Amino acid sequence: MRVLIEELTSKVYLTPFTALSALMYHVLISKGIQVAGFCDKNARLHGESYENCMILDSCEIAKDNAEKVVIVCAYYTQIIPKLRQLGINRFITLDQVLTKNHVITSLNMIDKKRICELAPKQMLRLNHINHEIRKFILPEVALKKSSLVLSNVEFPITEKCTLRCGHCSNLVQYYKTPRHIEVEQVCSDFISLTKIVDFIRLLKIIGGEPFLHPELSKFLSFFSEYKENYGSFQLTTNGTVVPDDITMLMLKEADVYVQISNYCGLSVNCSKLVHKLDEFEIAYQLWDNIVWRDVMRIVDKNGIHDAHRVFCECTMPCNTVKNGRFYHCPFLAQGETLQVFPYDEKNHVVLDSVCKKEDIKSYIESDEYHPGCRYCSGYSKHNMIVPTAWQVREPIEYTRLG
Ligand code: SF4
Ligand code: SF4
Repeated sequence: MRVLIEELTSKVYLTPFTALSALMYHVLISKGIQVAGFCDKNARLHGESYENCMILDSCEIAKDNAEKVVIVCAYYTQIIPKLRQLGINRFITLDQVLTKNHVITSLNMIDKKRICELAPKQMLRLNHINHEIRKFILPEVALKKSSLVLSNVEFPITEKCTLRCGHCSNLVQYYKTPRHIEVEQVCSDFISLTKIVDFIRLLKIIGGEPFLHPELSKFLSFFSEYKENYGSFQLTTNGTVVPDDITMLMLKEADVYVQISNYCGLSVNCSKLVHKLDEFEIAYQLWDNIVWRDVMRIVDKNGIHDAHRVFCECTMPCNTVKNGRFYHCPFLAQGETLQVFPYDEKNHVVLDSVCKKEDIKSYIESDEYHPGCRYCSGYSKHNMIVPTAWQVREPIEYTRLG
C-alpha cells in the first residue's frame, strides 16, 4: 500500500545505512520532513553521521519513547523481524514511499564522497543505482495487499560450467552429463510464473556458466520483452568467458546487470570481460574476496541431520525455477534433477494452469522443512568456511535416491 510522505507525522528513522537510505533522506528533507537518525547493525558506523544525521544502533532507536516510524530501505525480511523483537512495530518499506519522481529530483543531492567514506561498497550501488532502485519501486499492480512480489528468482540456463567448484551451490560438481536448458523450457516457465506472481524484484539467469549457452541471445531478447514483470535483470558469471560483440550489444539492450564472481587465478578472463563491459557501458559488479561456506552440499540423510534446525537457520534468499517447477532454493531444484533425494511433491510447486498465488505463498512461507532439506548442509552463517572456488577434477559421487 502506497504511503504518502506528507502523511508522515511522527519521528522518522531510516535503516540500514545504504545509498538508498541516503537517497530517502534527501527525499524526506526536500519535503520538509526531519530525519531523526539512521540505524545500522554495523558497529563501525555508530556515532558517525551523514549530513549531520547520526547513525545509531537499533537498540537506541528502541529506547526513544517518542512516536516513531522506521523506513526500512533494504533486506526487509531480515530487518523487520529484528525491529519487532526490539519492540519497534511501526515501519514502512522503501517501496511504499519511494517513487520514480523522488529519485529524479533527489539523486544528485546524495553526498557520494561521504557515502564512500562511510560505506565504500555502497558506491557500487550508487554507480548503478537505477538497477538498485528498480528492485524497490514497485508497479501499482504489485502494491495491493493481495499482490505476490518475489524478491529474487533464479533461472538456471545451463548445468555446464568452465569450472568445477567443490562447493558450488548450484551442484555443478555433481553433474556427470551436464546439459544446457532449452530456451523454450525457460521461456515457458517464466511465462507461467508471471501469470501467478505480480512482480519479481530481481530476476537472475545463472548456470553453471551462462555465457556457455549457445542460445544466450534468445534468452536476452525474450526477457527484454517482459521488463514490466521484474525490477532488475542480472546475469552471474565466473569471469572465464568473454562474450562476442553481438552478445554484448544484447546484454546492453536487455539492460542486464552482470555480476562477476572473481575467483582470482581461476577467473582467467576477468580483466578482459571488465574491459569489454566498460567499453559497451554495461553495468556490472566485480565480486572479489568472496568468503565461501560449506553450504548446500549433499549430506548423508543418516548423518548430521536435524533437518528442522538446518531449515530454520537457512537464509538462502534465492528461489529457483527449473523444468516447470518453482523451488525454495537451488539445492531443491538441482537436487531433484540429480535425484539426490526421493521424489516428493512437497519439494516444489508445479507451475501449471491450476497453480495459484496462495500455493506459492504457502510454500515459501511454510515453517516446515521440505523433504529435500534432509539431504542439504543448509545455508547459514554457522556453516564452516571453506576455500573459495576449490576445484575438483571429477564429478563428485553421491547416491541417487530418486
Ligand atoms: S564457477 Fe563454480 S560456483 Fe560458479 S557455477 Fe561454476 S562450478 Fe558453480
Ligand atoms: S536447508 Fe532446505 S531450504 Fe535451505 S538451502 Fe537447503 S534445501 Fe534449501
